[in-house]
Amino acid sequence: MRVLIIEDELDIATNLYDHLEARGHSVDLARDGLSGLHLAVSESFDAIVLDLGLPGMGGLCVCKKLRQEVCSDVPVLVLTARDLLDDKLKAFECGADDYLVKPFALREVEARLDALVRRRCGRVTDRRVVVDDLIYDPATLAVQFEGRAVHLSRKCLRLLETLLSGPNRVFSRADLEHAAWGGEQPMSDSLRSHMHILRRALTGSSGLSPIENVHGVGYRIAKRSV
Ligand code: CA
Repeated sequence: MRVLIIEDELDIATNLYDHLEARGHSVDLARDGLSGLHLAVSESFDAIVLDLGLPGMGGLCVCKKLRQEVCSDVPVLVLTARDLLDDKLKAFECGADDYLVKPFALREVEARLDALVRRRCGRVTDRRVVVDDLIYDPATLAVQFEGRAVHLSRKCLRLLETLLSGPNRVFSRADLEHAAWGGEQPMSDSLRSHMHILRRALTGSSGLSPIENVHGVGYRIAKRSV
């Protein structure tokens, strides 16, 4: 997985970096909140390890901005020296997914990151996903829309899987490109043309598609039923 570490303490940052890289992950490091936020927004990561006590913009602020201003749903594991309940609750309020108090075991950081990424990708179970008239079976990769079978390319399936992992949630172009192309650099209009194909395949008899382009932000799959 691709991980961003935002941590100002050199020893901790280096240990984390070396451990995750030795385990085969691709790791980026930022030493303050602002450059961490900038990296998190401009590139695509599978997870972020975020220290709370950072110079300049603090970790809580970074997390809040990621969730509220950028609408990013990247899993965030917070690391901190603080072991107070209020601090933990504040981190969750700001959108953190998990919490580890220093000192921590490097293996535990990796295990928690793995769990967060698995959960985000909806790979915890192989149950069918149903959103209104759309049914997706992750075990067989079969897609049904308004009662008919829909055949999709591998990349379109990956895009659909990602959108279905959070109905109504807007996924950024970077998130979707990362899901479908991984580390490869897609052509500049590849995402748009694949989304066009996906929308056309999933357009109902009413002429409407549950897949929506959210102008300037990305795409989402709209769910009518509650
Ligand atoms: Ca710190």
